[in-house]
Amino acid sequence: VTGFVLGIDVGGTTVKAGLVGRDGAITAVRSVSSRLGGPRSFRRALEQLVAEVLAQMPPGAAVAAAGMGCKGRIDTAAARVRSLPGEFRYLEGEPLDRWIAGAVGRPVPVRLDNDARTALAGELRWGAARGRRNVALLTLGSGVGGAAFCDGRMLQGHAGAAGHLGHVTVDVEGPHCSCGNRGCVEAIFSARAIEGDALAAVRRGCESSLHADFAARPDALTCADVFRAAARGDVVARAIVRRAAGALSAAMAGIAHALDPELFLLGGSIAAAPALIGPLRSDFWRRTERLLGRRIPVRRAALGGEAGIAGAGALAWDAAGE
Ligand SMILES: [Zn+2]
Repeated sequence: VTGFVLGIDVGGTTVKAGLVGRDGAITAVRSVSSRLGGPRSFRRALEQLVAEVLAQMPPGAAVAAAGMGCKGRIDTAAARVRSLPGEFRYLEGEPLDRWIAGAVGRPVPVRLDNDARTALAGELRWGAARGRRNVALLTLGSGVGGAAFCDGRMLQGHAGAAGHLGHVTVDVEGPHCSCGNRGCVEAIFSARAIEGDALAAVRRGCESSLHADFAARPDALTCADVFRAAARGDVVARAIVRRAAGALSAAMAGIAHALDPELFLLGGSIAAAPALIGPLRSDFWRRTERLLGRRIPVRRAALGGEAGIAGAGALAWDAAGE
């Protein structure tokens, strides 16, 4: 029997699912808008999505297990979402494992975890972290997610909250963060934070290509525009990026000193921004080389576009015992 697992990625704008083979190959990807409003319509959409994916399975094949990644704090033992700020709050406490097994149509092992840990599970099995035992991962997107694999195990912590590396404090009296703390790296480096800084500069009328391009349509300004302007030499954009990247490398230094990883992985949409990783790496090494006695490699995560499905598939293969 050809074996597959089901990988489900609950993202900010879409819920995606696909079949994931033993080699990490992803097929039959289907998606649905994540604006579903409540648990009932979420469950219906999930069942529909899974049915569409399973319909693509070759004859005689079977799904051995299922995995799901989503934001927030997850009770991995019970496969429940403990806390999930934002539009998916309604999933807190819901029996997602039963919904998924119900959608598959028979009792399969189901594993659920935070999306950053899921991404790291994928990198460990098929990506840039294969064979490693100590890896830290940051996912750089609209927020900053994190996961830590320490001494061969995914770090969970007392209440399952370990690895929220986006909430490492880098500025004691810095901007307020959605988590309740101040000066978290997420409040300074994330796409939302960078866009906010750039918009403020546009509104102040700073001399910048950003002002020329976006003063009339500030809502269209994205983090990618800020990085592009910085790469072109725009002074204002460069200052914004430099400050944000400084916060990121400071956070990475704190994490490295705490966890002593053999590898630092950067995933998410901003990790590919032009001219980010080079200067980031040098600054990170300057901050850590002396105490740690080496330069910890900093690499981009390898499992690009469908990393969420791949990671959920890796969890599922773990659950299937393979
Ligand atoms: Zn925070």
